[in-house]
Order: sequence, then C-alpha cells, then structure tokens
Amino acid sequence: MNEIIIATKNPGKAKEFQAFFSEYNIKAISLLDLSESVEDIEETGTTFEENAALKAEQIANLFETPVLADDSGLVIDALDGRPGIYSARYAGEPKNDKANLEKVLKELQNVPDTDRTARFVCVLAVAIPGKDTIFKKGHCEGKISNDPDGSNGFGYDPIFIPDGYSKTMAQLSSDEKNKISHRKNAITQLESWIKDVQQSL
Ligand code: IMP
Repeated sequence: MNEIIIATKNPGKAKEFQAFFSEYNIKAISLLDLSESVEDIEETGTTFEENAALKAEQIANLFETPVLADDSGLVIDALDGRPGIYSARYAGEPKNDKANLEKVLKELQNVPDTDRTARFVCVLAVAIPGKDTIFKKGHCEGKISNDPDGSNGFGYDPIFIPDGYSKTMAQLSSDEKNKISHRKNAITQLESWIKDVQQSL
C-alpha cells in the first residue's frame, strides 16, 4: 500500500492523517485534493462503526483504492449514550456547536457531578477493495462540566473535562489535546496495524 484516500473534507483532519501516514511512506490524499468532487455520503448507520464503514467502503469502491474514514462523537452515560452518532447535529440543522453543548447542559442540569461521566469516541475504518474493512476505536474518558469554559478546539470541548484534569478540553492547548484525544488513541492503534501490514509484504 503506497497511497490512501482520507474520506474527509476537513483540512485539519486531513493534515493530521497526512503527517501520520508520511512516516510510513504512504501518500494520504484527502477528498479536497481530488480533481473529481465526491458527494457527501449519508450517515445512515446506527453505530460509529457502520457510519465510518459506509464512508470508507463507498469511496473505496468508487476509486478502487484504499480509503480511511472516521466517525466520532460524545457518549454521555446519564443520557443513555446520547448524543453519540448524532453529536454533530444534536440540536438540529444547521449544525451548531454552541446550540449542541447548550442542549447537553440543559439535559444534565439536575444530574450530580458523580453521574456526569462521558467519553469521546473515534472509530477509524480502513476499506481496501477485495478485503475485509478493518476498524480501530479510540476513547477519551472524562466528565461533563456544569458550565462551558475555554475557547480552543471545537464541538463539545468547552464542556468536557478529561480524566486526570481539572479544566476542560477547550482550555488545553492543541498539543495537549492531541496527546490524549480519542482520535490520537485510534490513530495509535492504526500504527500497529500498518506495521503488521508492512511486515507481511
Ligand atoms: P465528526 O465525526 O468529526 O464529524 O464529529 C462528529 C461530532 O462529534 C462533531 O461535530 C463534534 O460535535 C463531536 N466531536 C467529535 N470529536 C470531537 C472533539 O475532539 N471535540 C469536541 N467535539 C467532538
């Protein structure tokens, strides 16, 4: 494998994956780099795995080349796992990070600190034409704060306090976040898979 498409139009994510694959001499091309435009794939699955696989497999079939896709979100125990796979649009359309986190805080307003446990989840799916799709899952455990704080990051970062910290993810620098994040965790697991693939060649 010397080339892989990253199924994202998010330049930040594309850069993160390109840096990772370059260490293995694998050229990572995002959907933004392709001359052909790729329609957004509807995330109709009911799990992170299904949604990541949908994106990776459809694009892999289209271009007949390996494709990596990710799906991520916030899972809150007191809300039976919500917002989960609906994290991006929890407060409805159009997608709005502030409205999403306000909805979560409202739903948790009577929930005591001890029961505000939650985790960010990231599932990576790698689809290679003719082979079984492989999955790697990363977590970042923590709890939901009572009020938003901090301005770094995105999404639910201002209300997520990672385990072992007394500040929110949005108060951490991007370097600090990237060391402990669910995405970093999933990418680390991909690393051992790539090493195995390379050794088997
Ligand atoms: P996506 O899979 O990157 O589209 O992420 C889905 C949604 O999950 C985002 O729109 C955010 O609301 C939430 N999310 C995923 N990762 C993070 C994160 O690192 N910080 C905060 N929110 C996140």
